[in-house]
Amino acid sequence: MADSIAREVPRRRTFAIIAHPDAGKTTLTEKLLLFGGAIQLAGEVKAKKDKIQTRSDWMKIERERGISVVTSVMTFEYGDHIFNLLDTPGHEDFADDTYRTLSAVDSAVMVIDAAKGIEPRTLKLFEVCRLRDIPIVTFVNKMDREARDPFDILDEIEQKLALDTAPITWPIGSGKNFSGTFHLADSAVRGSDSEEHRTKVNGARSDLVAGRLPENEREAFAEGLELAQEACRPFDLAAFREGHLTPVFWGSALRNFGVRDLIEALGDVGPAPRAQEADTRKVEATEEKMTSFVFKIQANMDPNHRDRIAFVRVCSGTLERGMKAKLVRTGKPMSLSAPQFFFARSRITADEAYAGDVVGIPNHGTLRIGDTLTEGEELLFRGVPNFAPEILRRVRLGDAMKAKKLKEALQQMAEEGVVQLFSPEDGSPAIVGVVGALQLDVLKERLAAEYQLPVDFEVARFSVCRWISADSRMELQRFIESHRGDIARDLDEDPVFLAQHEFSLNYEAERWKDIRFAAIKDYQ
Ligand code: GDP
Repeated sequence: MADSIAREVPRRRTFAIIAHPDAGKTTLTEKLLLFGGAIQLAGEVKAKKDKIQTRSDWMKIERERGISVVTSVMTFEYGDHIFNLLDTPGHEDFADDTYRTLSAVDSAVMVIDAAKGIEPRTLKLFEVCRLRDIPIVTFVNKMDREARDPFDILDEIEQKLALDTAPITWPIGSGKNFSGTFHLADSAVRGSDSEEHRTKVNGARSDLVAGRLPENEREAFAEGLELAQEACRPFDLAAFREGHLTPVFWGSALRNFGVRDLIEALGDVGPAPRAQEADTRKVEATEEKMTSFVFKIQANMDPNHRDRIAFVRVCSGTLERGMKAKLVRTGKPMSLSAPQFFFARSRITADEAYAGDVVGIPNHGTLRIGDTLTEGEELLFRGVPNFAPEILRRVRLGDAMKAKKLKEALQQMAEEGVVQLFSPEDGSPAIVGVVGALQLDVLKERLAAEYQLPVDFEVARFSVCRWISADSRMELQRFIESHRGDIARDLDEDPVFLAQHEFSLNYEAERWKDIRFAAIKDYQ
């Protein structure tokens, strides 16, 4: 068993793609899966995104708005490696879902549109990765269209993200003349991705490099490439792994350029599953005992069964089908009878999963986001964050008889991470909080479809929410007592302070110096 762990863990690469909408995340995903043999035909991911499937009623929202609401995981193999690609929703209203997913990856691919450079969502997502020191590989996409000068793009990454860049490849031409990539350190060239291997060449001016371009472009290109070879920072593995430097690749996901460069680099230098910080200690990926945590819950994957799939990231050991695990939050045993692996379109039963793998565990509400599973050890993983909601609403229910049912339904939705739920200390009706307005639409739709609860939302008198804590329990208690009408408890019974607006929050923070007001809470 220990042998299989030592063999399997270093092969795993678990990553996500971060990008501003339209930069080409879906197209790149599709191509990665295609080269990885996970799908036969490019176009399947796109088709799913566009419309075809009707997995459940609430996904109508996704179809109508043409956005991808659901986070999923796709596993594929390339060379000696097994890749777990965690997909994230493109729409920023589901940002907290994306942030939770980023807590389960070891690296991220940042896709940049070659004409647009760093866009606002790219920046935001990058910042989340930086908070967690997630190593970033950059893919400059759409080189087949009018693109900015490569030096310009590198400069922008360095300036806007304060991140060192090391181009690994260099684009041969751009726009309609884009005709391949040149590997700077190896002095080797690859035309399109249909070439499995690179061809060694003798410098920039070789026929196989500059010779691919129209005559009047060759000299300027060769000079640029030589400058890149001399002036650009060389790749530094340690700096990359620490999140200070990004290797940069160029290509066109649509036209099949540069995708192999990227996937090979993820295999060669991308980090294997890392050690994970828990409350009592750090857990190494190659330890024998299984540990894992839930970062995502997805309901209604199968409309015929009202099932809930908890996505767990394995952190160590072997997660085996049929094993008994301990759910640390409750201390109860849980039988993992049907863990599943996911591919682009299908899922199969997972017999064994190792650190870095993501498996789906069907359950009926036993698991919630942030939960830790172990083989018995009392240990809790930290780091699946909760973000202070930016929109707070009271749920209005037409039929008062159904108040109890609503309470249960909201509790479920909150455990799945659809919304956050706050119960005011003064006993007034619950408040739901979301980061983006579309989450409210999803909540409304699901309450109607799954619980036959038609609801509306009322503006609450609060607009800001912060988790409160203090070194002194007495001081915290004193604050709570003197603000009882503005205090609520979250799902874990942790207290939050609700303020009418930013101004009143600042006012209280000034007066109560020993109270911490946190906008992010890590699940424990
Ligand atoms: P996402 O929103 O980031 O998932 O972006 P998509 O993958 O859906 O791509 C957005 C649009 O850009 C689509 O029309 C794609 O066909 C197009 N696109 C993606 N990659 C490329 C590329 O390399 N070159 C060109 N010309 N178009 C691309």
